[in-house]
Amino acid sequence: MTGANLEELRHFIDNLNVLDTHEHFRYKGGAAGDASNYDIFALLGSAYVAADFNSAGLKNVFSSGLSAFEKWKEIEKVLPFVRSTSYFRSLFDGLKELYGFEEVLSASNWQEYDRVIREHHNDSSWFSEVLNKAGIERYLNDEFWALKIPEKGGKDIPVLRINPFVMSALGEKDHNGHNAREFAEKQGVKIKNLDDYINWVDRRIGDFKKAGAVALKNALAYDRSLYFAETTEKEAKKIFKAGNKKAAQKQKTALQDFLLHRIMELAVKHGLPVQIHTGIQHGGGRPLAWSDPLLLNNLFLKYEEARFDVFHTGYPFTGSLIVLAKSQRNVFFNLCWMPIISETSTGELLNELLDCVPSNKIFWGGDCSGAELAYGAVRYAKKSIFRALAKRIENEAASLEDAKFIAKNILYSNAKEFYRI
Ligand SMILES: [Zn+2]
Repeated sequence: MTGANLEELRHFIDNLNVLDTHEHFRYKGGAAGDASNYDIFALLGSAYVAADFNSAGLKNVFSSGLSAFEKWKEIEKVLPFVRSTSYFRSLFDGLKELYGFEEVLSASNWQEYDRVIREHHNDSSWFSEVLNKAGIERYLNDEFWALKIPEKGGKDIPVLRINPFVMSALGEKDHNGHNAREFAEKQGVKIKNLDDYINWVDRRIGDFKKAGAVALKNALAYDRSLYFAETTEKEAKKIFKAGNKKAAQKQKTALQDFLLHRIMELAVKHGLPVQIHTGIQHGGGRPLAWSDPLLLNNLFLKYEEARFDVFHTGYPFTGSLIVLAKSQRNVFFNLCWMPIISETSTGELLNELLDCVPSNKIFWGGDCSGAELAYGAVRYAKKSIFRALAKRIENEAASLEDAKFIAKNILYSNAKEFYRI
């Protein structure tokens, strides 16, 4: 491949607009900015790199009551070890560009980073400016912190979390502290039996769809295993009727299984695809085996008409997900989060993926909590995609035109088609 071709491909990818399939943006610009208490530590604490600081030995410094100077002293202890991770590098490569810094975070510049971040977060247009700089045309937003129906507007496209529906039929909370049954009853919904509960879930999905939601989101691997066995309706009704106090853990799980299967039927009925969290569990503290995409095999086989967007490449169970996406028409493969977990692995797995799976089945998303973090995530996704495609051209597995076609599919066209945006 000639250098000119490489440059043309890089330029093409750098200038692609992005349809981003997964974010968690709370603050979406407007009003008077989000500046109150938004400093360098708030930014670091809300970024994935906080997990690397913890992994390196710190203990929740960002949410501690320490002063700014004390926080910095803690961070400084492990910074030399964290500087090499993709979480750190993607974040600071992005921040350097956005704020015009020459160097990543260090003892000599952390206060200057802090000052500039505060200053920009006073500006209510900074959020949308950063998204524009990132080329994010629209994004699917998973507001896991709220149960209410989201407001329409801007670049935001809602998805609906199903965790509370599955986890709180008996009045228990999901891992985010949500209790769907209590929420429904507070709104005056009468839930006397399991049918009432499922009918309410059905109406809720319909209401979200009317409000613009384009998908359901299953993040149940943060609550329990992704294996959903079959439970008979008779058994499920019995458990529901007996109530929380009388149900053993095994019965609670059986009721959750039943509900997940009903929600799969509702997804098909409403024509909504299902996004599923698999692989790496943010923050640790849960069995990694819960999130193995192979556990979903029975759902993929049973619900042929459902459409599954399976997240995070299943990392580290990537090989299983590649084979599932190859063999099942209804299983799609999402790179979201992966380029900022390991930029190197993303380039490599993408080549394996493109050997195996048709390129209409691959998506990308940032999976970030703020615009600056998503800016770095887009940058790293584009970097990984470029590297993988340059290699395919070098190996004569793709022409320059093939490479451009694939890059646009991954970052834009596939999401538009699949989510009917
Ligand atoms: Zn996410």
